[in-house]
Amino acid sequence: MARSISYVTGSQLLSLKRRPNIAIIDVRDDERSYDGHIAGSLHYASDTFSEKISNLIQEVKGKDTLVFHCALSQVRGPTCARKIVNYLEEMKEDSGIKNIWVLERGFNGWEASGRPVCSCTDIPCKDESA
Ligand SMILES: [Zn+2]
Repeated sequence: MARSISYVTGSQLLSLKRRPNIAIIDVRDDERSYDGHIAGSLHYASDTFSEKISNLIQEVKGKDTLVFHCALSQVRGPTCARKIVNYLEEMKEDSGIKNIWVLERGFNGWEASGRPVCSCTDIPCKDESA
């Protein structure tokens, strides 16, 4: 089952993110702690991403769409998205994950467009409102 990675814009994501079957995965490293984050996003830092893929698959059980982003979504975001695609292809059982997306322009583009940013320190972020 081949999956390809698609890009999603901030405005598309803003209208889609209320859907319960979508998970946003922030793969920035330390920046998350001082730059804020997209409300409700999960945090899997790129530097330890490979080791935590199986945790991530567990945490997103029931979701069919994963949206990855880093600061600009140029290197870390697409790299981690590619790792997930490879991992899912090797998995024996069906994870139920159908779509792997990367947020265009990353968190910086999201914030620069004035889209809602959460600055809580909860792990995981519990803010579903924005
Ligand atoms: Zn938060």
